Amino acid sequence: MEQVVIIGTGCAGLTAAIYTARANLSPLVLTGVMPGGLLTTTSIVENFPGFPEGVDGFELMQKLQKQAERFGARVKFGNLDSVDFSGQPLKLIVDGDPIETRTAIVATGSSPRSLGLASEHALEKFGVTYCATCDGALPQFRNQPLVVVGGGDSAVEEATYLTRFASKVYLIHRRDSLRASAIMQERALKHPKIEPVWNSVVTEVLDVAKKKVTGVKLKNISTGGTSTLDCAGVFVAIGHVPNTKVFGGALETDGQGYLKLHGGTRTNVPGVFAAGDVADSVYRQAVTAAGTGCAAAIEAERFLEK
Ligand code: NAP
Repeated sequence: MEQVVIIGTGCAGLTAAIYTARANLSPLVLTGVMPGGLLTTTSIVENFPGFPEGVDGFELMQKLQKQAERFGARVKFGNLDSVDFSGQPLKLIVDGDPIETRTAIVATGSSPRSLGLASEHALEKFGVTYCATCDGALPQFRNQPLVVVGGGDSAVEEATYLTRFASKVYLIHRRDSLRASAIMQERALKHPKIEPVWNSVVTEVLDVAKKKVTGVKLKNISTGGTSTLDCAGVFVAIGHVPNTKVFGGALETDGQGYLKLHGGTRTNVPGVFAAGDVADSVYRQAVTAAGTGCAAAIEAERFLEK
C-alpha cells in the first residue's frame, strides 16, 4: 500500500514529490503522457524566482525531478486509466495495473485547447501544431510564412519564438487587442516579422486534400469578410483545458472542468488533494503550481498523521 501517489510531473507534481519525499513518505510519482508537464514545451522561463537570466523549461523540470528523487521519490513512467475513490484505500489503475494508496495528489495539469475544426485535426502532424518550441524548428517551417492563433501570453511567446525560423508570422486574434502581458505584447508587436491580423478567426485550415498546410481561411468577425492567407504552418495557442476526464465523476469539477477545491488543496474526496493548473483557472503560473504542490504535500502529510 502506498502512502502518497502523485499524479503528474509538472511543477505542481514534482514540488509535491520533493515535500512528501522529505517527509519520508516515499511518494510514487506517475509521469502521465508528458513527463515534466507543459513547461518542457516552453523555451526560456523568465519569471520563475531565483533565475535572473531565465531558465530552460526542460532543464528546470529535470532539476525538480532530480531534487525529488534525491529524497526518495519514485518516478514511474505511467498513465492513469481510471480511479475508484469511493473509500479508503484509494484505488488507481495505472497502465492496467492496480495501485492502492492512502492519499493521492492530483497534478495532471492541462492540455492545449483546439480550434475544433475538422481540417485542423486532419492536418495535425502535417503542419498544424500546438507547440512552437517543440515543432518550430522543423525544416517544413523554415523561411516560410507561419500563422499563430491566439491573443494571450502563449500566442505572443510562440509568435516571437517562431520569428527565428519563419519568413513572417501572422498573429491571428479574434479581437482587436491582446490579452498577453504588456512586456510580451510590446516585444511581439514591434517585431518586424510579426503581423497581427485583428478581429479574425480561422474557419478552415488548407489543404486537407494535399495532406499539408498551405494556408488558412479567415473570417473577419467585425465585417463578416472572408479571406485566404498562405502559410506553411498553423500554431494554435488559444489556452488550455484541464486534464480531469480520467476522474469521471469521482472528483467534483466546475463548469470548465477544473477540479473544485474545498479549502486549501482538498477535493471532495478525503485523502485526495489537487495542485497546479488542474485546479487553477486563474493564475496558471509555474510558481503558483509549485506553491500549491507544496500545500498539497503538507495537507497529505497531515491527513496521514491523523
Ligand atoms: P489565455 O491567456 O487563456 O489566452 C487564450 C487566448 O486565446 C485569448 O486571447 C483568447 O481570446 C484566445 N482564444 C480562446 N479560445 C479561442 C478560440 N476558440 N478561437 C480563437 N481564439 C481563442 O491562454 P494562454 O495564452 O495559454 O495563457 C495561459 C496562462 O499561462 C496565462 O495565465 C498566461 O499568463 C500564462 N503564460 C505565461 C507565460 C509567460 O509568462 N512566459 C507564457 C505562456 C503562458 P480572448 O482574448 O478573446 O479571450
